[in-house]
Amino acid sequence: MSKPTDLTIAAARAALARREISAVELTRACLDAIARLNPRLNAFITITAESALRQAEESDRRIAQGMARPLEGIPLGIKDLFCTAGVRTTAASRILGNFTPPYESTVTAHLLRDGAVFLGKLNLDEFAMGSSNATSAFGPVENPWSRANDPETRLVPGGSSGGSAAAVAARLVLGATATDTGGSIRQPAAFCGVAGIKPSYGRCSRFGIVAFASSLDQAGPIARDVRDCAILLRSMAGFDPRDSTSADLPVPDFEAAVERGVAGLRIGIPREYRMEGMPAEIEALWQQGIAWLREAGAEIVDVSLPHTKYALPTYYIVAPAEASSNLARYDGVRFGAREEGEDLRDLYERTRAAGFGAEVRRRILIGTYVLSAGYYDAYYLKAQQVRALIRRDFEQAWERCDALLTPATPTAAFALGEKTEDPVAMYLNDVFTVPANLAGLPGMAVPAGLDAQGLPLALQVIGRPFDEETVFAVAGVLERAADFRATPRLIA
Ligand code: GLN
Repeated sequence: MSKPTDLTIAAARAALARREISAVELTRACLDAIARLNPRLNAFITITAESALRQAEESDRRIAQGMARPLEGIPLGIKDLFCTAGVRTTAASRILGNFTPPYESTVTAHLLRDGAVFLGKLNLDEFAMGSSNATSAFGPVENPWSRANDPETRLVPGGSSGGSAAAVAARLVLGATATDTGGSIRQPAAFCGVAGIKPSYGRCSRFGIVAFASSLDQAGPIARDVRDCAILLRSMAGFDPRDSTSADLPVPDFEAAVERGVAGLRIGIPREYRMEGMPAEIEALWQQGIAWLREAGAEIVDVSLPHTKYALPTYYIVAPAEASSNLARYDGVRFGAREEGEDLRDLYERTRAAGFGAEVRRRILIGTYVLSAGYYDAYYLKAQQVRALIRRDFEQAWERCDALLTPATPTAAFALGEKTEDPVAMYLNDVFTVPANLAGLPGMAVPAGLDAQGLPLALQVIGRPFDEETVFAVAGVLERAADFRATPRLIA
């Protein structure tokens, strides 16, 4: 048998059922890997070794009694944006540095219900705002991959779910939860050579997830492969009356869809995603993906999403606007860190100045500006109108195709610190991912190849609302064709 930490979730599930390994052994192997590599990677903010071992013992008891639940004994990492009862939840911000929620998010409650073991809380960009994990108050995460000709230069894992992607890629965990407001599942998955899906808006409950931009935020899994994402999403998803935007729909067997194939499916290639200045390697990968799907029996159709060029500016109005409103609650009075002041206003100002990092402050300033009386019509209202046009572009595309294929990111992972001083260069990373959030569509990143430096590159599959099954079917075909087996330099 391979090393326990090399197991996929599907393989671990089978090995546990056959009693070839115990949940405690598997959990210990992950905790050892974390102890060895986390000091370098900084993927975890909080490690919950003791409770993980207790959960694993319970899993072993259940397996022995023939009462295994769907994720029995599977060790996972949880993005530190999901509230976990009795376990510190920071959103990677100083302002929540000592916050221990008294309740469990619905998504993590579902995973616990299904028998998962939680190894701890994973690092992220502060309040999930960023594309490099460099805005975390707990320090940056390092990508376990490095450039072949320059192994010393440390690369970013992407963001905001950088801890989730790095931990999965380095084999510290078998899978992880993540969230995606504008690309935070798909971009880090792409940068770290692992799979990640942002499901349709409403598929997973947002209850108990620290809010960034409520009309865009969605939870989803990051895992070693497409099947593992399907297994995790099935557990994470489902209607929740505590989130008014949660969809009251049955949760399909996503795992079965992975093997479905693409024969007879129409795959749209949106011509506006052929961006100027896109590296030739990304274009070549895209063409390769098209060829793979055609060989597997799909029909390739050319489609147009004419408002694509407005997606990024629209996102960077809508997301900060909602963020400025959501983050108003961190005032130092009810929860989180507090800086004492001379009066209430002074307390607010000192608390927020000390508690929020530079990027979060920038988003609050942009958001407050676009929502202010004088500019609301010019910016926020306009952005909402353009968002409707972007959504309509996709609706028209669905008349001609069943799913879309695009690159996941415009580049491979970049160096730590490379874009930190230039917010616009950083925001450009999200060019291929934000449209799916604005339209509420499922989108998945699948590792599909390596660039000339040996860094992973990924393709993105976008589907119709609540048609994750087709997304998994297409992603499954791409994964089998790409046969991506490369592993990062830093690995457990
Ligand atoms: N990188 C994007 C941003 O900074 C998206 C983040 C996310 O999806 N949470 O807003």
